[in-house]
Amino acid sequence: MKPRDRLRIAMQKSGRLTEPALDLLNRCGLSFRQSRDKLFCFGEGEPVDLLLVRDDDIPGLIAQGVCDLGIVGRNVLNEFKGGAGDGAATLTEWRPLGFGRCRLSIAVPQEMPYGEPKDLHGLRIATSYPGLLAAWLREQGVDATILTLAGSVEIAPKLGTADVICDLVQSGGTLVANQLRETAVLLQSEAVLAGPEALPTDERGDMIELLLKRLEGVIQVRESRLLLLQTSRNALEAVTRLLPGGPQPTLLPVAGQPDQLMLQALCAGEVSWRQLEEIKKAGAREMFVLPVEKMLA
Ligand code: ATP
Ligand code: MG
Repeated sequence: MKPRDRLRIAMQKSGRLTEPALDLLNRCGLSFRQSRDKLFCFGEGEPVDLLLVRDDDIPGLIAQGVCDLGIVGRNVLNEFKGGAGDGAATLTEWRPLGFGRCRLSIAVPQEMPYGEPKDLHGLRIATSYPGLLAAWLREQGVDATILTLAGSVEIAPKLGTADVICDLVQSGGTLVANQLRETAVLLQSEAVLAGPEALPTDERGDMIELLLKRLEGVIQVRESRLLLLQTSRNALEAVTRLLPGGPQPTLLPVAGQPDQLMLQALCAGEVSWRQLEEIKKAGAREMFVLPVEKMLA
């Protein structure tokens, strides 16, 4: 790897990961001047620049040492790592980033009977992830034909070019629209920070460590929720038992209602409607879930 004093991060030029990746980097205190060709963005404050490319090219750019880090879907990273490309084995996932969540799944025509992976025996499976699919089929002891397609995988069964597909699924809407149903999940994916296993020994290594620390803080805040609720002292134990994980809640008195308490808890992730309904059933009321803007413990 050639010595460089600025860190270079590869990210998707235009697609699902672009906005959230830029937003995350901005929150880490990085800002960029957009150049006219929009391929290279010069970092304004810190010595960190961006290379905007197709997501499929990101692992290769890191493996070749053109970029030091990349923000890319685990699906793309693992497909590359499973291949025989130069440097593929040395790429590693430094940190999951909590956006771009999806899964790589097998989907079959709605009317096709499916009970277990062995039912795929002898079928033609269309996918853009031949490496990940081949590894899974091997693990399952299934002998099937893999048809590699660059896109529009979901219409292959209707066109008769394949029997089933192996594709990315998020809400499942695309599958329903194409009369397909999801039957097995091969990989849970999200955007990750990828890089070589060994950090560069120059200034870039220090910058990567700093960035990882900032990411930790930013992601922790982004995933935190402040839960506020009112409960009677009697119901306090039952309510507390149902609170999503996090530090001990804070209890405050409610003016004029000595049997009531205000409870404040920092939760480590989303608080779902179902969780709220259960906490309410245990005796809580006046419940609020608030996003956390900044946190300094
Ligand atoms: P590019 O032009 O960069 O090659 P692309 O079409 O391959 O773009 P996108 O569709 O923008 O890529 O998806 C980028 C990543 O977003 C995927 O690799 C995956 O990790 C993630 N993703 C999340 N949800 C979905 C989904 N429903 N379908 C496809 N990808 C998804
Ligand atoms: Mg792509």
